Amino acid sequence: MKKIITIGEILVEIMATEPGDGFLEAISLVGPFPSGAPAIFIDQVAKLGQPCGMIACVGDDDFGRVNLDRLAGDGVDTSAIVTHPELPTGSAFVRYRPDGSRHFVFNIRHSAAGATGATPEAERLIEGADHLHVMGSSLSTPAIVELALSAADRIHARGGSVSFDPNLRPSVLATPGTRETMDRVLARTDLFLPSGPELFLFSGAATEGDAVAELLGRGIRAIVVKDGAEGARFHAEGALVSAPAYPVEEIDPTGAGDTFAGTFVTLWLRGATPAEALRLANASGALAVTRRGPMEGTSTRSELDAFLGAHA
Ligand code: ATP
Ligand code: MG
Repeated sequence: MKKIITIGEILVEIMATEPGDGFLEAISLVGPFPSGAPAIFIDQVAKLGQPCGMIACVGDDDFGRVNLDRLAGDGVDTSAIVTHPELPTGSAFVRYRPDGSRHFVFNIRHSAAGATGATPEAERLIEGADHLHVMGSSLSTPAIVELALSAADRIHARGGSVSFDPNLRPSVLATPGTRETMDRVLARTDLFLPSGPELFLFSGAATEGDAVAELLGRGIRAIVVKDGAEGARFHAEGALVSAPAYPVEEIDPTGAGDTFAGTFVTLWLRGATPAEALRLANASGALAVTRRGPMEGTSTRSELDAFLGAHA
C-alpha cells in the first residue's frame, strides 16, 4: 500500500460552548481538541488504514501530547513529529457568532509549528513515502516551503505523486511571496483540491470550466473542487464527475475540507473511480460537519459505509 505523508501545523482548538460575539467576558469552554489542517488530513488517511506519516513540530506540553497520542493511536507514523524544548504548541480559541460565522483568537504565530524543518527523521519519512499532500496554510516559513518542495521533487523522482489543497483565505494570498510559493507548489501538483472560491485565486478565468482548462494545461492531472453543501466535482482531461453532498445538520464545519481530502486522496491512490472516491469523500465531509471539534470529524471506513447505507 502506498504511504502518504504531509508536512505542517499541529495545534489545539478550544471552543466556547455558547454562541456569542467573542471572548470579552468569562464563558464556558470545551477542549482541547487536536487540530491543524494537515493533522486532520493525515488522521483521516490513517483511519482508512492507509500507511501514513507527518512531519511537524509540537511543544513539550499537554497540547502537543494530546495531538501525538491521538495521531499515533489512529495509526499515523509520528516518528518525524519532533518536540521543541521551548516553544509551545499553538492554540486557537473559537466562538460561533449568533449568525453562524466564527470568531477566532489564534496563538499560533510564535508556536512550535513555525520551527518545523528538515531533520533526520523527516528525511527518513520522505525516503519511504509514495505520496505527499501539501496544504497552503502550512507553508508559513521559508524552511517549510523548501522542505515541502524538495520532498515533492524527491517523491516524484521515485515515481510518486503530490496533492495540494490551497486552504487559503484570499487575504493571505495578498501577502508578499505567497502567490509565488503557491505557483511553485502547483507546478509540482498531480491532484489539486481547491474549494470553489480558491479555484479562482489560481486562474484569471471567469468560469469553473475555463479555470480548470487553464490549470490542466499547466500539467495538473486532476482537480477536485470542494463546494461545501453543494458537494464536489472531479475534473480531468475530458472528464467531469459531479457528486452531491449529503444532507446533514452542520454543527461545526471546521475540518470538513481536510477530512474530505484525506478520504479522496486515499481512494484515488487505491485506484478507485472518481465517482467512488467522491462518494466516500462527500460522506467524510458530511460526517465531519456533524461533529464538534476539528479532528473529531474523521471517520473509519465502517463509519463511512454505515453513513452511506443510511443515506442510500
Ligand atoms: P474548510 O473550511 O475545512 O477549509 P473547504 O472549504 O476546504 O473547508 P468545503 O467545501 O467546505 O471545504 O467542505 C468539504 C466537503 O465537505 C464538501 O465538498 C462536502 O462534501 C462536505 N461538506 C461541507 N459542508 C457540508 C454541509 N453543510 N453539508 C454536507 N456536506 C458538507
Ligand atoms: Mg479547506
